[in-house]
Amino acid sequence: MQGLMMDMPLLVSSILEHATRHHGSVEIVSRRVEGDLHRYTYADLNQRARRLASAFTRLGVGVGDRIGTLAWNGYRHLEIYYGVGGMGAVVHTINPRLHPEQIAWIVNHAGDTHLAFDISFLPIIQAIAPRCPGVQSWIALVDAERQPTIPGVDLVNYEEFLATGTTDFHWPELDERTAVGLCYTSGTTGNPKGVMYAHRSTVLHAYAAALPDSIGASARDTVLPVVPMFHVNAWGLPYLCPLVGARLVFPGPSLDGKSLYELFEAERVTFSAGVPTIWQGLLAHVRSNGLKFSTLQRTLIGGSACPPSMIDAFRDEFGVDVIHGWGMTELSPLGTLSRLQFKHLDLDPAAQRRILAKQGHVIFGIDLKIVSDEGQELPWDGTTQGELLARGPWVIREYFRGEGGDPLVYDADGTGWFPTGDVATIDPDGYMQITDRSKDVIKSGGEWISTIDLENLAVAHPGVAQAAVIGVAHPKWDERPLLIVVRAPGTEVTREELLAYYEGKIASWWTPNDVQFVDAIPLGATGKILKTKLREQFRDYVLPSE
Ligand code: ADP
Repeated sequence: MQGLMMDMPLLVSSILEHATRHHGSVEIVSRRVEGDLHRYTYADLNQRARRLASAFTRLGVGVGDRIGTLAWNGYRHLEIYYGVGGMGAVVHTINPRLHPEQIAWIVNHAGDTHLAFDISFLPIIQAIAPRCPGVQSWIALVDAERQPTIPGVDLVNYEEFLATGTTDFHWPELDERTAVGLCYTSGTTGNPKGVMYAHRSTVLHAYAAALPDSIGASARDTVLPVVPMFHVNAWGLPYLCPLVGARLVFPGPSLDGKSLYELFEAERVTFSAGVPTIWQGLLAHVRSNGLKFSTLQRTLIGGSACPPSMIDAFRDEFGVDVIHGWGMTELSPLGTLSRLQFKHLDLDPAAQRRILAKQGHVIFGIDLKIVSDEGQELPWDGTTQGELLARGPWVIREYFRGEGGDPLVYDADGTGWFPTGDVATIDPDGYMQITDRSKDVIKSGGEWISTIDLENLAVAHPGVAQAAVIGVAHPKWDERPLLIVVRAPGTEVTREELLAYYEGKIASWWTPNDVQFVDAIPLGATGKILKTKLREQFRDYVLPSE
């Protein structure tokens, strides 16, 4: 017997329709490349998204066609999310911090037929246009009077293009498994691979991400996504905010501590999200100017491990709760978030901190397990480490165009799991903690050393601005840890002080064999430390003999 309830597909257009009908006057505020602050509402967003869908339809864009974006967080980018996705085409967000050659490769692999860009990225368009013959139009996201030109390339103006559409466009009732978004992984090993999100996976992810033990977003929140809309859909916030009726504030191109802080305060932001490196800049600005956050309540930090010292700083100095989260492009991206449960409420603060420092607990929809090299499931005891596998309705089944073959591993009963490439422990309550990416973990004398633990401890030292640990070849132990440090401005911390700082905090055999000071640590396109580059940089480095 079938249930007798309405069969309504889960579509991103339904999120926008909901926001328009039930939160229509809620504001979206954007700092623009034009330099000013732009304000409008969810109802306005819907009108312009319909216009855009209509304009693209007139241009011959249909269901499944890919539209590329190279854009900051802003209202026009959001219109593309909803206009393109709502009509059944696919929004392909591209990371502008990648090398132009890689961008051209991705555009061609995705088969983008049109590409919209913020004018900050004009040099990229100039470099890639001749190499992307499949792109029929390059659309500049800017007011018509500021329309740029590139000799030999026909640039379309977004506002003029929008004017060719009409607002009477009706969102089609698509199959909820229709593709809506495309995001490429960073490709630190080999070419990037495309992850194709569905309407269904996107809506379910937005529901789950809004739950109280996830982001806990509501219609009382003002949300400022620092995480870019080209980094796994700004972790789902562009879908989650209209779903709950939260105000949205977009920072545009200004991501330095001062600009962010001013926007937080002026727009009374209550919730934000981003990678740890962004918060370092913000914390430094706030501290050095003796400022306070007057409205910010909580912030989601993930993308790479959030050092416990950062969680403490936000809470103790500023009264802001950090939600440590873990995810990846292949998981839409949210998998786990660290929040306390009833049984933890009476624990002492130090014990609570240890829980909050973990990558956290799954949200309904995601399941995890850890396995040995032989694929054997490992116990949830909080100490046994293994490769982390995930499954769920917003986890990848297959990469775009079948790249890399079948990515899943299977149980005897045929249940498929996605191998995350992370090494982790899971405790008896289900809290997961990442030890390392499997390619970063250091294997010393057959035992594993967590580079994340060593880095977290190093950045807690006041003399350290940034730290990274890599494994270096060792004749007896195979690999030993090397600590690479950027000193905090105005400090002269020494190798000996740093090595002594580890004493009593970790097993002594984990202590790095040496420290190297550098001016900067290379960061990848999403603000994460590029260990591949560091390993290259220190290829000829030899550890001091003991
Ligand atoms: P890439 O870094 O390759 O661009 P993603 O942005 O999808 O791809 O990153 C996913 C990876 O980032 C995870 O597999 C994990 O290694 C790392 N990561 C994400 N969040 C955390 C976290 N909170 N702690 C530690 N590592 C994290």
